[in-house]
Amino acid sequence: MDGLPYELVRSSRRTMTVEVHPTGSVIVRSPNRMPLYEIERFLAMRQAWIHERLQDVEAKRSVLPQRTQPNHFYHRGEVLEWGWQNADVLVPQQHTTRSAALRYIERWQRAEARSLFSSMISEHLPAIGVPGLRYQGLKLRRMKRRWGSCSSTGHITLNEHLIRVPDGCIRGVVVHELCHLVHLHHGAAFHHLVADVYPDHRLSDTLLDAWTSVLHAHADAFVQSSSNADVSDAAIISGVRPSM
Ligand SMILES: [Zn+2]
Repeated sequence: MDGLPYELVRSSRRTMTVEVHPTGSVIVRSPNRMPLYEIERFLAMRQAWIHERLQDVEAKRSVLPQRTQPNHFYHRGEVLEWGWQNADVLVPQQHTTRSAALRYIERWQRAEARSLFSSMISEHLPAIGVPGLRYQGLKLRRMKRRWGSCSSTGHITLNEHLIRVPDGCIRGVVVHELCHLVHLHHGAAFHHLVADVYPDHRLSDTLLDAWTSVLHAHADAFVQSSSNADVSDAAIISGVRPSM
């Protein structure tokens, strides 16, 4: 289809679908034996829809702040500059090389992430009601495909790259994971609780999609398929956006 790059995933499924992810990647799922010309024909039929979705991804990306210098980095939705002097974040003089400075900034952001995420958790935990699981603590990890997760033992894991996006988006993910302490699924009751605790969550989820695509474009973070979190396949599938 016009040389549009896409990833083909064959499986024992019976139908074909095409997904446009917030990162701008296009994934086609097809039955194992489907001939390539059938797949191309299917894509040609959905060409207009795919291009609309891709334009949408680009439009969202273009309104976010741009990193233009090698010592720029994203922090809580803003572009900050690091340096040894006259910068937003000062690197102590003993870190003389660029790579040492970057490691310093990485540690600085991890500490910021721990303190901000913890304070948001303490802020929202009382509103969660009677949880099924007792909150057991926060873990930070650099994850490739998810913003957060909640284990059946009550541990919440958040992606440390989340410190790069605006506070509203971080809050959306924090609330999403806290609500899993009550409902360890994505059913209607779960969504009601999320909307109760954080009424702005839809806006912040949409914004997080845009940030995901920016971070992806900068290879800052990772490829991840879902907007808010831990649903492995919440991409936009043929025009219908599945609930998270
Ligand atoms: Zn979830």
